[in-house]
Amino acid sequence: MAKKTDILIIGGGPAGLVTALTAKRYYPNKHILIIKDVANGSIPCGIPYMFSSLKSPDENKLGLDALKKNNIEVIIDKAEKITRKEKTVSGKSGEKYKYEKLVLAMGALPIKPPIGGIEKEGIYYAYKDMDYLKKMVINVKKSKNVLILGGGFIGIEFADEISKIEGINVYLAEFLPRILGNSFDEEFSMLAEGKLKLAGIKVLTGARVIEFLGKEKVERAKFADGTQIEIDSVVLGTGAFANTSLAVDAALDIGRGKGIWVDEYMRTVDPDIFAVGDCAGKRDFYTRKDTAVMLASTATAEARIAGANLYSLKVIRENKGTIAIYSTYVDGLVLGSAGLTETSAKKEGFEIVTGSTESADKHPGSLPGASKIKVKLIFSKQSGVLMGGQVAGGISAGEVINIIGMAIQQRVSLTELETLQMATHPYLTSAPTMYPVVAAAQDALGNM
Ligand SMILES: Cc1cc2nc3c(=O)[nH]c(=O)nc-3n(C[C@H](O)[C@H](O)[C@H](O)COP(=O)(O)OP(=O)(O)OC[C@H]3O[C@@H](n4cnc5c(N)ncnc54)[C@H](O)[C@@H]3O)c2cc1C
Repeated sequence: MAKKTDILIIGGGPAGLVTALTAKRYYPNKHILIIKDVANGSIPCGIPYMFSSLKSPDENKLGLDALKKNNIEVIIDKAEKITRKEKTVSGKSGEKYKYEKLVLAMGALPIKPPIGGIEKEGIYYAYKDMDYLKKMVINVKKSKNVLILGGGFIGIEFADEISKIEGINVYLAEFLPRILGNSFDEEFSMLAEGKLKLAGIKVLTGARVIEFLGKEKVERAKFADGTQIEIDSVVLGTGAFANTSLAVDAALDIGRGKGIWVDEYMRTVDPDIFAVGDCAGKRDFYTRKDTAVMLASTATAEARIAGANLYSLKVIRENKGTIAIYSTYVDGLVLGSAGLTETSAKKEGFEIVTGSTESADKHPGSLPGASKIKVKLIFSKQSGVLMGGQVAGGISAGEVINIIGMAIQQRVSLTELETLQMATHPYLTSAPTMYPVVAAAQDALGNM
């Protein structure tokens, strides 16, 4: 006999949790069951901070209290097969689960780069499994030389955190000509690189690792130009791929971005099966091309749409496309990016105009705790619509990028931003006379 539930969710990461909590609000009488294969989950975005900033790795545990409070059942099991005809999912435990509505929230898995010796001991992945991560933290802390592979935001967060451990020498290797190259323009990448170098990290750009050498354990990394460095451990920040094998086996469609195909309401081709988060396909906000953005913030936005729309369409056309939006932090420097960069907009063929500004984030700038904030905005040249933005600065920059994200989502124009009505206060914001988002829009107007 199969275990019956109304709503079955596979995966207990941010997408699965938020789908369950949202569904509970919209459909309080439905029974909700989450099956997850990792008993001891970790907060994914907090993984880099398990090395130094958090007192103990256990502080990064993914809490399930909200689920208990909302009577959402959780079972540790691995879903192995979906049988669409009978609306069941078979678990590794031998249990069968019968659903009315099924939500796929299986996330993503780290990419294993095709490098010789990648199987050696001492090479670690960002698996979202607390037991694995604790071992990784203990072993990396014993190292003298650590190599971080990949100069995206996850790689630089690992490098920054590990460099705070006394006695460890950190290398960060990126095969592209600059770090953060996919989501920031050059001037912002250079700010991050400067900060990492100041922290003593050896940033190697245009540097492709071709082999890991050593007996069983990694001892050296060999680069394409023939140079070698001595290392005791490696942490990989080389990206992730959508975990779609269950969906493929169930003959659900897969999009060009390699995620499970979904419509605006997160429905797959089967109206009773939804997909959310890293395993679900995304379409770019401005080009509608398939894209592989994998962010917890995007995952939860999708989960809120799916959770509301499981039994009838309540939240209408809110997923108008994915805006790649995130922020990161390097030793006191906050960097945020939303939408298209100048580089990616030009590559796509958009005719654009940009505007930039730099000011203090308090006024006067001599107030205690003030930081510089740099803002760059990218607009469509003819229509004046905001297409992207980047921010660098102190803590305040983390929310400024969210204002820009909201403006992109609402297709705000240059003149609307120029005449933005905002709250300012000496201790809290830049001066109203040079509010950075407004000043960058004015600069763009001048450049038009
Ligand atoms: C080191 C690191 C730092 C990050 N920092 C940020 C950040 O600062 N900001 C941000 O927005 N994003 C960040 N991300 C990305 C973010 O973690 C992901 O986008 C997010 O976790 C996606 O959520 P999800 O629920 O879709 O998938 P996941 O978090 O991957 O969760 C999926 C879950 O499903 C389980 N599962 C898979 N298959 C099965 C199965 N067959 N049966 C049962 N269970 C299954 C998995 O074990 C997993 O627990 C970071 C990622 C990493 C690795």
